[in-house]
Amino acid sequence: MDIRELETPCYVINEEIYDQNIRTFQEAFDTQWGKKVLYGYSVKTNNFPYMLKHAMTYGFYAEVVSPDEWEFAERCGCTADRMIYNGPQKRDGVLKAIEQGAIVNLDNLEEVQLVCEAYRDKTVKPEVGLRVNFDLEKMCPGETTCEGIPGRFGICLENGDFAAALQLLSQSGIALAGLHMHQSSKTRSLAVFQAIAQTAAEIGKRFQLKLNYVDIGGGFFGGSYFPNKPAPDEYAVTVCKALKQYYDPAGTMLVVEPGAAILATSTDYLTSVLNIREVRGKRIVTVDGSLLHINPSLKPHPTPFQMINPGLETDREQIVGGSTCMELDRFWPRDIHQEIQHDSRLLFYCCGAYMSTHNSYFINAAPNIYLHKNGDYVLVRKKSIDALFL
Ligand SMILES: *Cc1c(COP(=O)(O)O)cnc(C)c1O
Repeated sequence: MDIRELETPCYVINEEIYDQNIRTFQEAFDTQWGKKVLYGYSVKTNNFPYMLKHAMTYGFYAEVVSPDEWEFAERCGCTADRMIYNGPQKRDGVLKAIEQGAIVNLDNLEEVQLVCEAYRDKTVKPEVGLRVNFDLEKMCPGETTCEGIPGRFGICLENGDFAAALQLLSQSGIALAGLHMHQSSKTRSLAVFQAIAQTAAEIGKRFQLKLNYVDIGGGFFGGSYFPNKPAPDEYAVTVCKALKQYYDPAGTMLVVEPGAAILATSTDYLTSVLNIREVRGKRIVTVDGSLLHINPSLKPHPTPFQMINPGLETDREQIVGGSTCMELDRFWPRDIHQEIQHDSRLLFYCCGAYMSTHNSYFINAAPNIYLHKNGDYVLVRKKSIDALFL
């Protein structure tokens, strides 16, 4: 099959690029930290089963943040002992996860109390991790996604809650297995990862922790479309150097949870022209896809693309609208330098992270997904409205 024959709109997963992203990322951290690196696949970044299953062939664990994601990972063939359970909504599932041998990072004091309570009278005690809430915005002003509001996740270091959690655990005979340090940022900069790893080292020193693992979380850039952004080896050097101030790579496992870094550039999005009209001097092209499929928050940022079957060079502004009945569903407010024709197709790059995960049933059902592998395209998800019916 040729890309011109795919039923549009659709996502196209490029296995070769996905493989390359995974290998580059793993090589970088294995080189800097050694054998004890554990990779978690962030399910929320892309919950298409093939993606997790493929990452699992590289030894990835599933990083899940809800009971639904837990079930999803199980259905992908991931066993509990190869899951990392994070997030603020574990509920009672937290006890099942601990029992079945998952890596569990407790997010709040209520969860700590729940676990302490459950194991109070048991002789065999579990080990758990704690998600740390610390003031990254203070260390990297303007770089976090919080903008004036404190980050919501984890147990606060500055107000003594973290020390209180340590005490609760130790009173219950439950060992602290690790720290979970994930923080999302707008910049994904090396300074952010320096601050995260530095803080993990300082916490270790201050509380004299003996940890099985330090989990740095996700939030890295990856792939080759971002030439001015940090590469995996730069992240690895920064993180490992800062962690080594307290932790020994021979004794403590480094856990990383890359989502976008391995997924973003793995997947393209293809859409075809439906019709072209002239309205009050503007050329308006309507395509069968929707901006919702590649930019679910509809924030104005351009996605790199290529035109298949382009027309002649033109300076004229062309407005490209999606197939929904929403005026805002326009792909970009900027110039395209070749005329879009009736048989043109637009192939958008970098659509593998936080895109298909957000697919809804608004006007269009979630689009087809093809896997591009060994030169061929295979349909791996078929568009369907089944989920609207019992
Ligand atoms: C979202 C998230 C990740 C992955 O983030 P990316 O930006 O996709 O790399 C990893 N760990 C946790 C806890 C997360 O919430």
